Amino acid sequence: TTRIFSGIKPTGHLTLGNYLGAVRRWVDEDQHRADALFCVVDLHALTVAHDPARVRRLSRQAASLLLAAGLDPERCTVFVQSHVDEHTRLAYLLECTATDSEMRRMIQYKEKAARERGGGDGVRLSLLTYPVLMAADILAYGTDEVPVGDDQTQHVELTRDLARRFNERYGQVFTVPRATPPAVAARVMDLQDPASKMGKSHAETSGIVYLLDEPDVVRRKIMRAVTDSGSVVAYDREAQPGVSNLLDVLAACWGGGVRPDEVAGRFGSYGALKKETADAVVELLRPVRERHAEISADPEYVDGVLAAGAERARQLARPRVDSAYRAIGLMPAL
Ligand code: ATP
Ligand code: MG
Repeated sequence: TTRIFSGIKPTGHLTLGNYLGAVRRWVDEDQHRADALFCVVDLHALTVAHDPARVRRLSRQAASLLLAAGLDPERCTVFVQSHVDEHTRLAYLLECTATDSEMRRMIQYKEKAARERGGGDGVRLSLLTYPVLMAADILAYGTDEVPVGDDQTQHVELTRDLARRFNERYGQVFTVPRATPPAVAARVMDLQDPASKMGKSHAETSGIVYLLDEPDVVRRKIMRAVTDSGSVVAYDREAQPGVSNLLDVLAACWGGGVRPDEVAGRFGSYGALKKETADAVVELLRPVRERHAEISADPEYVDGVLAAGAERARQLARPRVDSAYRAIGLMPAL
């Protein structure tokens, strides 16, 4: 069977970008057609300035939201990265496989390092090595497919390179995975700054729709989205990034393979497009928000799911990571 792995960092509240780029497909497709693991990757949240209590709170909230969105623990494995030691064990071997120049080429490193430098406390070394830990997350499970948004494809490419390099040098241990971005809304842009990706860790929040925003807040943010001075509703991500972003979001809400350029033809004004998009997003998120209220009221349920998930994940990962230890030349412990 196909093995699927994907994760989400507890660096902020989950956004519409996370949902359309990743989580929705985990729920609607991936958990039904494959052996799928979904992980709250909390170690990755420590790569940038963080508040310990907030990371702890957001990890629990992310897990609750994944369940609220419809991940079914009977069908898939939901767990927290730091509960499974195999990820960091394997990451070290992959650090011995990757090169420093490979790491410095990563676009996200460059962007996030620039942001962190502004904070004055320096750039954490783990921000540079983050893609290696991500590769370990994926490779530990013999993953075939990694359902992620567009922004993660470079990291998955690196993961493929590391898997191939390790296999060539030390023998066949890892499956070479591939990224599977969604056909529509693979990169949802910030509503106030359509040149940059909507990101849950961004400080300026007026252009970000969070999954737990109240309907009137969602409506306000979408109605105030930056468009442009023209008036024709057309799908052109270069010339009309704001309008095109709304068309992407609306097409994704409608689903069923509808393309954003087809959606464009149905609207005569930006106002009408915004209103329809706002309504569609409110309806898309309503059931998630409602179920989250129920699930987060039952922390023991969430804890139970995460404990069982970690146990299964450990069992899947340990033999492969042990093989990697032997293959790379480490002496077995008695
Ligand atoms: P951060 O700002 O901390 O990087 P993030 O919002 O980018 O947070 P991640 O935890 O890095 O979220 O990514 C989780 C998943 O959501 C990944 O599969 C990523 O590709 C996807 N994703 C993140 N942002 C978007 C977006 N704007 N559009 C589509 N997919 C996205
Ligand atoms: Mg990100």
